[in-house]
Amino acid sequence: SEKNNQLSELISSGIYRLDCSNAVFLDPVRILNCNYARFRISSSAYYSRFFDSKSVEEEGNSSISIKSRKRKRKQNKPRILNEKEQVADRRHQEARPLLVKAHEALLEASDLLDVMRDLRTGSGEWECRDLNSRGAKSRFIELGKIWQAPLYEITLKFSKADKETENEGLPIIHDDGQRVVPVFNNIVLNDTKYDLEADFLGAQYIIPRESCFYMSGMGQMDNLIPGDSDCGFNLIVIDPPWENRSAYQKSIYPTLPNRHLLSLPIKQLTHTEGALVALWITNREKLWVFVKNELFPAWGVSYITTFYWLKVKADGSLICDMDHFHHRPYECLLLGYGSGKVIASEQLLVGKPLKGNQVIISIPGAYSRKPPIGELLLDYVPGPRPARCIDLFAREIMAGWTSWGNEPLHFQDLRYFFAK
Ligand code: SAM
Repeated sequence: SEKNNQLSELISSGIYRLDCSNAVFLDPVRILNCNYARFRISSSAYYSRFFDSKSVEEEGNSSISIKSRKRKRKQNKPRILNEKEQVADRRHQEARPLLVKAHEALLEASDLLDVMRDLRTGSGEWECRDLNSRGAKSRFIELGKIWQAPLYEITLKFSKADKETENEGLPIIHDDGQRVVPVFNNIVLNDTKYDLEADFLGAQYIIPRESCFYMSGMGQMDNLIPGDSDCGFNLIVIDPPWENRSAYQKSIYPTLPNRHLLSLPIKQLTHTEGALVALWITNREKLWVFVKNELFPAWGVSYITTFYWLKVKADGSLICDMDHFHHRPYECLLLGYGSGKVIASEQLLVGKPLKGNQVIISIPGAYSRKPPIGELLLDYVPGPRPARCIDLFAREIMAGWTSWGNEPLHFQDLRYFFAK
């Protein structure tokens, strides 16, 4: 039956299409697991938020909790919105019916709700990962900035099995099956069909098959620009470190002033036949104005529609009140087409016309990680297949993708995985 199909799709691909046509539920752990043959993502590490109220508190430090308590107190008083806030609120009111409908569809899917409750305990996974215990907070951001950065190397370890099956002349593998390459400002490639283990400063990282990462600051990004725009990217996902007031965000990674993003070389990264550009954005009105009036035009991107990421807890309830002004239970993904060298964006050859206003529902991962949306976007990507995909400001690496940022290895740490 239809119900069984939806569930079996969730089990195999991590995607559950809800009855309401515009909404899907994602299990990021299952989606990410499709990237690996020899490893599994640790569900308890991924979902260390929103399964119990305790872990939410733990994530911030105590001073922040005090601040937010103060803020909460303030918010109980009705407040008068300024002009920009009113525009933001109107935008919220427009999206609201769509989000409510998607949430209702989720609450009606009782088979899904049953599975959701157990997402944290992945199949056969008993050990609960304590990610703070090893104190191995990744130091890529700091290390990448010091003068010794060019000296740091990562060791990619090709296992015997890889070597045997890969001897059709593909990778250059040393006798010991290791490849040692600079880790910063260098395009590091796993061109094999297998996930690899890699060593860096005594920690282990898992590099998915047919992936590529480039760890650098924005100043060195030009090295990613393909010599030939036929080798550009058809899907460009961007999750910038927007400046905001949240001290918690500031403590986990550096932020960038808006105007710095104007110089991201999106035009140069775009494939000759165009690209679907997906930009994560916060709810602040100032940002929306900046993106639509300045950023997208500077990147040669024409805006098409917005997708919404609705965040729920394991019991299906929203992570906060829908109408909480400063803390919405959703984030927005702005979608547009970047025109390539040969074709104007209006004439792009797209697989399917982009269906607007879709709602993506998931239980948020720890450390404000975004859900993996690549699969959902592939249908709408212009140009040749397989699509060439790039994740900008990435903290993880996916099979078949290029990841760029100052810490793309962050979530590839073996601490987030189990060996199969
Ligand atoms: N999409 C990621 C995820 O879901 O985990 C989150 C990306 S986070 C919003 C922004 C990232 O940009 C952080 O990893 C931050 O360290 C990085 N970043 C900040 N400033 C940067 C810069 N100047 N160059 C490169 N990366 C930078």
